Amino acid sequence: MIAACCWHCRQFVQMVRPDEEVDGSYISSGFHMPLFPDCRFSGEYDYQLMIFSCVNCGYPNIAEISFSPDEALSGSSLEENITRWLPVEPIGKQYSEGVPPNVRSIANEAHQCAQIGAYRAAVILARSAIEGIIAEEDSSEKNLYKRIENLSKSGSITKRTADAATAIRLCGNDSAHNVSAPVDAEYAEIIIQILDSIIDDLYSHPLLVDRAKQYADQKRAMQKEDTHDSDK
Ligand SMILES: [Zn+2]
Repeated sequence: MIAACCWHCRQFVQMVRPDEEVDGSYISSGFHMPLFPDCRFSGEYDYQLMIFSCVNCGYPNIAEISFSPDEALSGSSLEENITRWLPVEPIGKQYSEGVPPNVRSIANEAHQCAQIGAYRAAVILARSAIEGIIAEEDSSEKNLYKRIENLSKSGSITKRTADAATAIRLCGNDSAHNVSAPVDAEYAEIIIQILDSIIDDLYSHPLLVDRAKQYADQKRAMQKEDTHDSDK
């Protein structure tokens, strides 16, 4: 069975050909593969697009299908050859509850931008998020990288995260100030990873440590109770 997350109804459901019933039988008599580019362009492409219909809402969903001659000869199924579904729906990133809602929202959007190839937007959003977070933690210094260094010295973020942020500064990329400058995928990915490291250091990891401490305290209290009970 072919299934995907429908861009329209947002459900993960079965996808069928427009002329196919859910059980695989055909609504119309003739077999029709809605493949594009169509047969007039045979052999002129690396991949094809095929239109499927969502069984939940009936809206079209487009699958990108890679067919190499070997695969076609080996009789591999259509499902195995689906490389992705279009339009690409960015999934973003889910952050833990310890991360403040506004930080979570901006960081998630930065991930979504990178996932659809909007690298400039991803970098600008990630940098804004980093600046916003750091400003809340340390307002004594104006320069972002000095702030990061201060947080590293105070132990709020790891030295590795601070070093990564410094490396970005040394890259000399001025996309934050020059919006028209092109940004490549790798640079956007690095900036987002630094953002995530800072979020982990400041919010996610301390929350984990708190939970671990609570867990240890509860265990210790239970052990004490057990000892008291056995003393009676
Ligand atoms: Zn649907």
